[in-house]
Amino acid sequence: MNSHLLSGLNPEQRAAVELPAQSALILAGAGSGKTRVLTTRIAYLISTGQVSPHGILAVTFTNKAAKEMVTRLSAMLPINTRGMWIGTFHGLCNRMLRAHFREANLPQTFQILDSGDQLSAIKRVMKALNVDDEKYPPREMQWFISGSKEQGLRAHEVEAYDPYTKRKVEVFAEYDAQCQREGVVDFSELLLRCYELLSRNTQLREHYQERFKHILVDEFQDTNPLQYRWLKLLAGKENALFAVGDDDQSIYAFRGANVGNMQELLRDFHVESVIKLEQNYRSHGNILEAANALIEHNRNRLGKNLWTSESGGEKLRVYEAPTDVDEAAFIVEEIQQLKREGVNLTEMALLYRSNAQSRVLEHALVSAGLSYRVYGGLRFFERQEIKHALAYLRLMENTDDDNALLRIINFPTRGIGARSLEQLQETARMNGTTLWDAAARAGGKVSAFVALIESLRSATKDLPLPEIMDHVLEHSGLVAHYESEKTSASKKREAEERLENLNELVNAATLFVHENEDDSLTAFLTHASLEAGEHQAGDSEDALHLMTVHAAKGLEFHTVFITGLEEGLFPHQNSQNVDGGLDEERRLMYVAITRARRRLYLTFAQSRMLHGKVNYGMASSFLRELPEELLLWLTPRVSARRTFGNSSYETSSYVAAFGGASAEPAPPPPGALWKMGQRVFHQKFGEGTVTGIEGGGADARVQVNFKHAGSKWLALEYAKLTAV
Ligand code: ATP
Ligand code: MG
Repeated sequence: MNSHLLSGLNPEQRAAVELPAQSALILAGAGSGKTRVLTTRIAYLISTGQVSPHGILAVTFTNKAAKEMVTRLSAMLPINTRGMWIGTFHGLCNRMLRAHFREANLPQTFQILDSGDQLSAIKRVMKALNVDDEKYPPREMQWFISGSKEQGLRAHEVEAYDPYTKRKVEVFAEYDAQCQREGVVDFSELLLRCYELLSRNTQLREHYQERFKHILVDEFQDTNPLQYRWLKLLAGKENALFAVGDDDQSIYAFRGANVGNMQELLRDFHVESVIKLEQNYRSHGNILEAANALIEHNRNRLGKNLWTSESGGEKLRVYEAPTDVDEAAFIVEEIQQLKREGVNLTEMALLYRSNAQSRVLEHALVSAGLSYRVYGGLRFFERQEIKHALAYLRLMENTDDDNALLRIINFPTRGIGARSLEQLQETARMNGTTLWDAAARAGGKVSAFVALIESLRSATKDLPLPEIMDHVLEHSGLVAHYESEKTSASKKREAEERLENLNELVNAATLFVHENEDDSLTAFLTHASLEAGEHQAGDSEDALHLMTVHAAKGLEFHTVFITGLEEGLFPHQNSQNVDGGLDEERRLMYVAITRARRRLYLTFAQSRMLHGKVNYGMASSFLRELPEELLLWLTPRVSARRTFGNSSYETSSYVAAFGGASAEPAPPPPGALWKMGQRVFHQKFGEGTVTGIEGGGADARVQVNFKHAGSKWLALEYAKLTAV
């Protein structure tokens, strides 16, 4: 009966699918069919009657992957996949918290803070506590809070011995208290809260343990300690955890993901079967060989060998451009040529290490009239006008949501100045209430705003979602605001685009109602927070994929362009002084290479403009780690003309450019770029020694004790420091 399910699999894959109901680890390289095995196992378990769809919990890495899994399952089995628990860690935790909001001590309509909202919430707390944001850069604080939560730690559990850390813990505690008052949760809170719910509430835990007999996890190598503990709780003593992963593709160590989980899994779950899959079905031989050769430079691998029965195929095409603009122009030409040869745009991907790189590429694509979709960049739900519109809806749902209130109380402008806002915040602080409560007692323009929100609420109470959206866009004044901006020549285009996006929001709501049983406003707002970026307009259109390498995990394309292969950019400068940093960059490069099925381009530029500065770089040392005989140089070979490997971008402005918020994902290990005690040279102050480091990314500052000029704090973004 299941023969059709198993027929396309090789013996090892088949063995994995047919394993008895026990915990197992499938450890296998890229493109060896891990995800396929996992999906097939779900179908197999259901079709052999071992479990009902209701008893499955499957965790994937992105919502896109979850959707794909559900689609594949429906194709394999005649079952209703709709209510199945297949999703991301965040998505599944959100679902549990919604179902048990009381037990989790949350309001029914709790809202989710994305990382931008979280940052502004943190800034508010810091202001209230009088914390110096020079000394404690808010971004670093955000990193600290999320990082602690991802380790499963609440503020009072963080070990703090020095006054500096103690202060950070204070902010952490107050931030959590503020979120609780306002009825909002950030991303890591979703997980931690859900974990705590299950660990404290025996009845609930037993209920879910009874239910989820089979728990399946894709990309297991990237689970962080908290996620692992969450899985362990759900699995209990009885249930089977089926994990698939690849240690060579672990790319979230900087966020606390832990390959060590694999060893723990073997121990904690008494895993008897570790199955290795070694045949790669994705890529042509040369691509695979290049990936294998690259990753061999890493130490501490669990070790696997990947082979393919495919022929070598084409060589990897390497292109050196004079500038980033030329690089983009070259890529556009190649894409057009491939298109003429019959390769669909959706079958091609442009990958980059840092989000900031996409702008030039996008510009070239737009000029050439090629459609594209950006994954993980400035996403639909993150655009300014969309966030404004959603803030109205959020405040209507939950008036305690101070973030939402602050965003729109004076947008569009209604004459509520910074002073009245400060007063409002002060009143709220003194009385220990939310801003809304304070506003409700205020007079004048503030009270008009309160009345507006209340009238929006009552007018839309019984309307379907798309009409709520429509009503709010009109009556909040948002549409009128952007309409009026259209009359200004300089803002015309931008305003038009924003209006189109707002329109698109109504479409998104319509689609949402069609696709979901729960079509409440709360459900839609959750969807907006969780799916940001993964659900963009025009999904069916033939369009190119643009994304960071991180976002490309698990995906595959006929043709892949890995762009910006320059030392300091990829491998990223931030990785240089971090332990194991270069190895992680190399795994990232391994992920990038193994996305390609048939053709792979490796491109780099001699100079690059980023954040308004020109930077000069050398070719990435990763290029040198690829066997020369696999490469086809489209421009004269670099290694013949100059050496590369040791040098990196010289200007510190480059460091700042890539270390900033736009690096994706932004890892700001404080002072990763310079070490204490390091000797440096400054054009004006001469030679000195680094004696202090603060902040990260664009906020990074170093203290240098100069031989002749004394001790100075320098902002890395402006200081031209070089190592000596
Ligand atoms: P990654 O590590 O990148 O996530 P993966 O191990 O999850 O990769 P899949 O995405 O499951 O690999 O499979 C890679 C490709 O190989 C897919 O196109 C899949 O359909 C195909 N594939 C997997 N197994 C087989 C097989 N036995 N026969 C033919 N094609 C296969
Ligand atoms: Mg996969």
